Amino acid sequence: MQNALDEVRQVYVDLAQRPIQRNCLRKTECCHFKLTRRTPYLTKGEAVVAAKAFRATGRKSLPETVDGSCPMLQQETGNCLIYEDRPFGCRTHFCAAAGGPIARREVLDLIRRLEDIDLVLNGNGPRPLQNAVADALEEVG
Ligand code: SF4
Repeated sequence: MQNALDEVRQVYVDLAQRPIQRNCLRKTECCHFKLTRRTPYLTKGEAVVAAKAFRATGRKSLPETVDGSCPMLQQETGNCLIYEDRPFGCRTHFCAAAGGPIARREVLDLIRRLEDIDLVLNGNGPRPLQNAVADALEEVG
């Protein structure tokens, strides 16, 4: 398991090193799924990395959200609770201010690596963020 999680984090590092002009300003507009009508889909490795980061904040389970925002968006501060470990979809910026979504072909090799890790972890392919992280939280205990 640990090797797989290290590989997920390496994918995030490799994405950051791509010469793609994007600049996340932490506006968190993309974290309001009801408004954007886009929910990030996570492979299992991404979900476990996110779940572990969420647990590290001292929280046990995802809160209910009434406004359709990500359950890992802290309501009081408006910050992502797991920013350093946020999933791949949160890094490819479905956000006009950050430069718009990165073309899939530019990161296809990274997506394939996440899919390969999903297979190693017996995942079921990409799933909506809330479901994927909730299940991963149960799995990490
Ligand atoms: S994980 Fe963080 S960056 Fe991604 S949608 Fe949730 S709050 Fe936003």
